[in-house]
Amino acid sequence: MKCWICGEEATTGEHLLKAASLRALFTTVSQTRPIFYNSERKRNKRLQSIDSKYLKSKSLCARCNSSRTQAADRAFDILMSYLEGLPSKVLAQSSVRMNRLFPYCTRAQSVQLHLYFVKLFGCLVREGEVPIDLGDFSAAICSGKPHPDIYVAIGAMDRAIAGGSGTAGLSDMHCDFYKDGKPAFVAWFMHMGDVCIQVMLAAAGEHRDGLINSWHPSRNKRLLLREFPKE
Ligand SMILES: [Zn+2]
Repeated sequence: MKCWICGEEATTGEHLLKAASLRALFTTVSQTRPIFYNSERKRNKRLQSIDSKYLKSKSLCARCNSSRTQAADRAFDILMSYLEGLPSKVLAQSSVRMNRLFPYCTRAQSVQLHLYFVKLFGCLVREGEVPIDLGDFSAAICSGKPHPDIYVAIGAMDRAIAGGSGTAGLSDMHCDFYKDGKPAFVAWFMHMGDVCIQVMLAAAGEHRDGLINSWHPSRNKRLLLREFPKE
């Protein structure tokens, strides 16, 4: 497989659910204390290690997975440590200013946070063989500029859906395409413990419910946290 960002040979596995966040959530994962990975296709898959192949996507080269996206990974770690410290009631309805999350280089760090989701989105598209062109995704990452159509919504996970706070998972990707095959609206969720993150691709002019109170680094200086509706 070729790296979808630069076209070189893909050699490394990107963690679909970030190892640092999983480690914070599940202090020790082992044969006797496995974690359960939930997705629509793999229900309660038992994992014995955070390095399990089920949590990795092999669609990036070493450089794109490390130095090129290191700042993005760090920005996401900062967000997750902030969110993991919040009580779930606060997680369901509050907000945080980006300059509180990232006191230095706020704008640049906000873009990096956004690019982390662009990277994960691209890996999921490639991994799932979803027919979405990744040209704009790789251009955003290579130029360090935001993808104009990718939005993120963050909030509290409904425990009834998540199966308790000790779980983590990725949803399948829900896609709406135009007749010409281009994506109109694509959405997927990830959850780690009580934190739920919805990542969306919405073509210009699409007004979808999921976009309400969502975050894009060029539009919002504040991240609104919300409760996700019961499905
Ligand atoms: Zn690459």
